[in-house]
Amino acid sequence: MRADIAVVGGGPAGCFVGEALAKRGFEVVIVEEHGEVGNPACCAGVVGTGGLRELNIKPRKWVLGKLRRAVFYPPSNRPVEITRGKVEAFVIDRAAFDRELARKAVKAGATMLLRTRCVGLKLGRRPVVKLKGARGTEVETRLVIGADGPASIVARDVGLLKTARYFKCAQLETFAEVRADTAELYFGSSFAPGFFAWLTQAGDLCRVGLGTSQGDALDKLLSFIKTCPTASTKIQSSKIFNLGAGLIPEPLTRKIYADHVMLVGDAAGHVKPLTGGGIYTGLSCAQLAAEVAAEALEGEPTAKKLRAYEQAVMKKFGREFELGIRARKVFERMSDKDLNLIFELLKRKDVQMLVLKNFDFDHHNKLFRVLLRKAPELLRSLGVKRVLKYSRHLFNP
Ligand SMILES: Cc1cc2nc3c(=O)[nH]c(=O)nc-3n(C[C@H](O)[C@H](O)[C@H](O)COP(=O)(O)OP(=O)(O)OC[C@H]3O[C@@H](n4cnc5c(N)ncnc54)[C@H](O)[C@@H]3O)c2cc1C
Repeated sequence: MRADIAVVGGGPAGCFVGEALAKRGFEVVIVEEHGEVGNPACCAGVVGTGGLRELNIKPRKWVLGKLRRAVFYPPSNRPVEITRGKVEAFVIDRAAFDRELARKAVKAGATMLLRTRCVGLKLGRRPVVKLKGARGTEVETRLVIGADGPASIVARDVGLLKTARYFKCAQLETFAEVRADTAELYFGSSFAPGFFAWLTQAGDLCRVGLGTSQGDALDKLLSFIKTCPTASTKIQSSKIFNLGAGLIPEPLTRKIYADHVMLVGDAAGHVKPLTGGGIYTGLSCAQLAAEVAAEALEGEPTAKKLRAYEQAVMKKFGREFELGIRARKVFERMSDKDLNLIFELLKRKDVQMLVLKNFDFDHHNKLFRVLLRKAPELLRSLGVKRVLKYSRHLFNP
């Protein structure tokens, strides 16, 4: 089989870039290892309303919930609520969302090969994507786009994953007493070191998940729902559905292009560093990838030409990724005691006002910049020794 572009992975980023390039008149083949787009899905499905608007994706039946507030539970278990009173994000049915993007790609002219797994690449001027499964044995192409998730085989085969870093996550669905318009976030080194746990209602069911920088995420999740003093009283742990695990990549820890190869979505590490949210960021960067690919395919899509993709991503998200990674480094090093002090700060009216005024669900850099300016004053309540320790990570990346 031949095509101008072979996209490996029929997740949101693959379908989005596939649609954009098929609309520009290129022959696009999307290869998806599962028999159905969107299944299995392990995702909380929280997407900012502003991000979807920016991507021109209209909310449809896949919206299962609307989030207006967040409640943070620090290790002290003294919750802090934060809200602007308006809908900030949707909770979506990932399978239905992914399928809509897949339908749009196919409608634009892309060919979708389901139950077909990419098992490797033969690199060269006409790269070959080696396949195993229901449809065909290989696709000869001009450009391979790896949209195959955080552990991307495309990235591995090309040698782009060498310095990649991940967080481990697990999630289940169950019944729980959580307000439909509220995301609950739980912090504590005993159950989610370096990350956090979440509870969010998605229709009748509640998604309960957790990320961690250490240990087994599934074990930690099962322990969290039994032992977290607040969450355990809300969750019906005897009724568990859709238990799954996944990885969240850290941005800027891998290269995203090579001769005749680009990476998009999680394969490229395009997620928000603090929350791990990758739907908006992945799709937004996939749009940039499509623009650069279309231009590069007027001739040979060499690494020299595809470098414009990385430049476009850095122009739009570079500062955000860098500041987010710095904030994450500080967060990962914080003891439970310091986390408690930080969340106590968030109870202060002036700090809440500052956060609410500068928070944007999909772009965290405005808030980061304001908080960085205020950091010495805000961190003072932690004591001089800690200010020095954390400032090192904040100001010297
Ligand atoms: C527990 C958890 C919760 C999350 N919650 C949120 C959230 O609330 N909001 C948010 O924005 N983000 C969230 N994310 C991140 C989000 O899920 C990802 O950023 C998003 O799915 C990335 O889309 P993608 O298309 O790049 O990759 P994926 O969605 O991973 O899609 C990759 C596709 O490639 C296919 N594939 C893989 N290998 C091959 C192969 N060799 N051959 C053929 N096909 C292949 C897979 O089957 C899959 O369909 C969460 C992640 C996790 C793990």
